[in-house]
Amino acid sequence: MPTRPCWVEIRTRSFEENFRFLAGLAAPHAELLAIVKADAYGHSLALCAPAAVCAGARWLGVTSVEEGVAARALCPEARVLVIGGVFPGQGAALIANRLTAVAWEPWQLNEIEIAAQDAGAAAGSVPIHLEIDTGMSRQGVDAAGLLPMLARFSAGSPLKLEGVMTHLFAADEADGTVTEAQLAQLDKVLEQISAGGQWAEWLNVGNSAALLAGQAEAIAALAARHGMKALLRPGLALYGLAPAYEPTFEPENPAPLATALTRLQPVLSWKTRVTGVRTIPAGAVVGYNGTFVATEPMRLALLAAGYADGIDRHLGNHFSLLVRGQRAPLIGLVSMDQTVVDVTDIPSVKPGDEVVLIGTQQGETITAFDHADVTGTIPWEVFTRIAARVLRIAV
Ligand SMILES: *Cc1c(COP(=O)(O)O)cnc(C)c1O
Repeated sequence: MPTRPCWVEIRTRSFEENFRFLAGLAAPHAELLAIVKADAYGHSLALCAPAAVCAGARWLGVTSVEEGVAARALCPEARVLVIGGVFPGQGAALIANRLTAVAWEPWQLNEIEIAAQDAGAAAGSVPIHLEIDTGMSRQGVDAAGLLPMLARFSAGSPLKLEGVMTHLFAADEADGTVTEAQLAQLDKVLEQISAGGQWAEWLNVGNSAALLAGQAEAIAALAARHGMKALLRPGLALYGLAPAYEPTFEPENPAPLATALTRLQPVLSWKTRVTGVRTIPAGAVVGYNGTFVATEPMRLALLAAGYADGIDRHLGNHFSLLVRGQRAPLIGLVSMDQTVVDVTDIPSVKPGDEVVLIGTQQGETITAFDHADVTGTIPWEVFTRIAARVLRIAV
């Protein structure tokens, strides 16, 4: 059955090319883990996880065990890192699906260890990436918790310390001082780990902002000092957007960012169609609460997409969409399932015309940044708020 006309097109080829380009930036110092959490930033895990593997990704990063189970079904060979950790009762599914947990709480190790023992796992056969809190105060072991956690990776336990992980929380700050401090703190933790006679294969650090700011070498150098390999975890850049840095880099971009700005390709286009066209007289109000009142006769187009599809309600009266290659202002508040645009100045708009919410039409482009700038958020949120009911189609 043909669906209601509100859909997302995913260019998996662009996703693959973005991965290869970013892997090239990291090489030869570091390997990449493709972040495909939250249904691949709303781009469809089912489309993007296999594309990442096809482009050479050996590691995928998801939020939860349930996302990990879905990724495992799609990609039987990939390493799948569960960056949000396990929750009580999820250990068995983690083990059965060969998922690798990020862990930072003793109870998480209990959960995994018991499930591993129940499954008859051999000593040292269940890899864990231990997260270190280097300043974000979110996930991660603090200084006091480190030694007790390390003691859990004793000989005979099924648990193996495979990775040491931290999250850089200000890699999009152009001066890099916060990141430097985080890496310095991580260095101390790695010294403590080796002082205790322990070692991990992977140093798991760095998002898109770190990679494009040219931090891969510093991360890889830190890893090398401790005999480890560096694993960076880009998300947003895989989907074709470079993070905005604050303040903007001066006088010129770091080399990786400069190339990224020319090479990264947006992966997602979000589209709907005109479902009706009507003319209204001066004085007519449009939409809920009459926030828009026509001061002259107008032609309006009704669109089959609303806030339940992920269009932020605050865009009403403050944003434009592309119709026939021209910008059509959103008129009135966005409704749950519908939106109205002003097409008075766009000739011959008719039902069935394609409308672009994100993407390019006849040389005009709307990006997730454009949405985010108006609603005071970030492209990550714009992407992940495109509703599940919006069909994702590979193109
Ligand atoms: C989401 C996430 C990333 C990817 O971040 P981007 O800014 O999208 O590159 C990396 N690491 C962790 C822990 C994350 O949660």
